[in-house]
Amino acid sequence: YRHGEASEVVVPTLAGAIHFGEHHPLVVVAGPCSVENEVMIVETARRVKAAGAQFLRGGAYKPRTSPYAFQGHGESALGLLAAAREATGLGIITEVMDTADLEKVAEVADVVQVGARNMQNFSLLKKVGAQDKPVLLKRGMAATIEEWLMAAEYILAAGNPNVILCERGIRTFDRQYARNTLDLSAIPVLRSLTHLPIMIDPSHGTGRAEYVPAMAMAAIAAGADSLMIEVHPNPAKALSDGPQSLTPERFDTLMQELAVIGKAV
Ligand code: PEP
Ligand code: MN
Repeated sequence: YRHGEASEVVVPTLAGAIHFGEHHPLVVVAGPCSVENEVMIVETARRVKAAGAQFLRGGAYKPRTSPYAFQGHGESALGLLAAAREATGLGIITEVMDTADLEKVAEVADVVQVGARNMQNFSLLKKVGAQDKPVLLKRGMAATIEEWLMAAEYILAAGNPNVILCERGIRTFDRQYARNTLDLSAIPVLRSLTHLPIMIDPSHGTGRAEYVPAMAMAAIAAGADSLMIEVHPNPAKALSDGPQSLTPERFDTLMQELAVIGKAV
């Protein structure tokens, strides 16, 4: 796992270079599950930026369990993400699901996301490894740490050293109260095994907005380098993942709570 290499990923954005890593301040990625329309994405971008986030997240291509669920607006949503960047200067993180879409996703994204369901899509891993944009690699929902790190290794081996690992919860037997079990023990384990920066996603990790703040704070206390938080201007009306999305107001409060815990740099 190439331990000993520079333990940071540097992402150029309109607002300057953002450093992900153990020796840098916390980086917060926030935004809706899906890009729904221009007004909502620009409004969300403005709100999360004002609260202190460095990156806007939002899906154009969505990996949905049901083929009848909203699949994302695709290419047109990429244009809306670009508009949100212009309006705010935030970096953009969005998911690529298919090698055929990689070029156009990478044109807009400052960091290309590979989702949990594609963690072992080896042809996609090789392709994102052979392009220049940093890659956010989410942990497969039933992947071991070893499988996850080997998936990261595919990207590194293809020539892209800029990989950020994102724990987003693993399959749980208790679906009644949580969508997944957020594996915070992955933080110290990864720290001992790899130089790659560590992000925690308590939104997909719990599936419930009311549990997100506690797990976000726990992630910082355990040493996470970065957080991904779903934020929607009207969670009740969201086209995907509304139940786990914070309102902009709650996100703003969370950012103030996180500042109290801080992060050793
Ligand atoms: C997402 O980030 O919106 C997403 C689909 O996440 P995951 O791949 O972790 O389920
Ligand atoms: Mn989501």
